[in-house]
Amino acid sequence: MRIIFTALLGLLIVACSNQTTAKKATSKQEVNVYTHRHYDTDKILLGAFEKETGIKVNVIKAKADELIEKMKIEGAQSPADILITSDAGRLYRAKSLGLLQTVNDSNIINVVPRHLKDEENQWFGITKRARVVVYAKDRVDSAQLSTYESLIQSDWKEKILVRSSSNIYNQSLLASIVAHHGEEVAANWAKMLVANMARNPKGNDRDQVKAIAAGEGDLAIVNTYYLGKLLNSSNEEEKKAGEAVGIFFPNQKDRGTHINISGMGLAKHSPNQANAIQLMNYLLSPNVQKAFAEANFEYPVRIDVEPSELLKSWGTFEEDLISLSELGANNQKAVMIFDKVGWR
Ligand code: FE
Repeated sequence: MRIIFTALLGLLIVACSNQTTAKKATSKQEVNVYTHRHYDTDKILLGAFEKETGIKVNVIKAKADELIEKMKIEGAQSPADILITSDAGRLYRAKSLGLLQTVNDSNIINVVPRHLKDEENQWFGITKRARVVVYAKDRVDSAQLSTYESLIQSDWKEKILVRSSSNIYNQSLLASIVAHHGEEVAANWAKMLVANMARNPKGNDRDQVKAIAAGEGDLAIVNTYYLGKLLNSSNEEEKKAGEAVGIFFPNQKDRGTHINISGMGLAKHSPNQANAIQLMNYLLSPNVQKAFAEANFEYPVRIDVEPSELLKSWGTFEEDLISLSELGANNQKAVMIFDKVGWR
């Protein structure tokens, strides 16, 4: 991992000097980032930005809901410049609460595809992740798999592993089913999926893959980058778990695989706005996009940046192009359905 990071730093220093020169000497040389992202890559990327621009990046790390609450309480006095979350649903919520503002920078607006940003340009995807089905290679033939909807078939009784419904990744997946099929169908899907669970939901996405390797179930619903992390883990057991599963992109013959973003919004009362815009541009610059893809196994949001070799080896896939705002709009319904059907 260290070697990858060192190589990344080299890439990044070039990236910075190419594109972040314009707005240097204005306000205070700092930018305050409220972030829910919990990956080592981010630390390195932000460090490289600091080094090149001289703009100090102050990072406040917490869960997205806590950060949103903090911004609410701080109001106009909030030092937050940028809010970064690992799901569009939380950015949608921050916008609904009036905590964000419109970005007018044409580069930021132009490089992020339409379905991966807010229609009023208050938030933008930084990286993309697909929520896929992974299967036990030795027990499941991928030809048995097709859609999220088909996971409720009786063939999968007590075979499916998935984390708790308190997790936003599952809330957004169910919100997408609500958006596409309506509440009734979504509720039935969630109810029948619970009936097919191999065990009560527990652990994170990585734990579901490990449970497949341990024979506790045959299928799991997980975000792609966690598989990348397992396969590249220094822990033999994790590596083996990653190797025990195959990856399947659901719904390729209809709407495409459910995707989400990790994204950023410009804080309503951002005190260092020019620096914030500079950092947002940096996070979307080709080399930084490439770095996220290489080191954290995420898909770039930019269509002109290729994913890593590992991600390419999983193949290309059609993605659900539904606007991520719709997932935010349907989040409450999804949470209520989970509650009703007993998906803990
Ligand atoms: Fe995550």
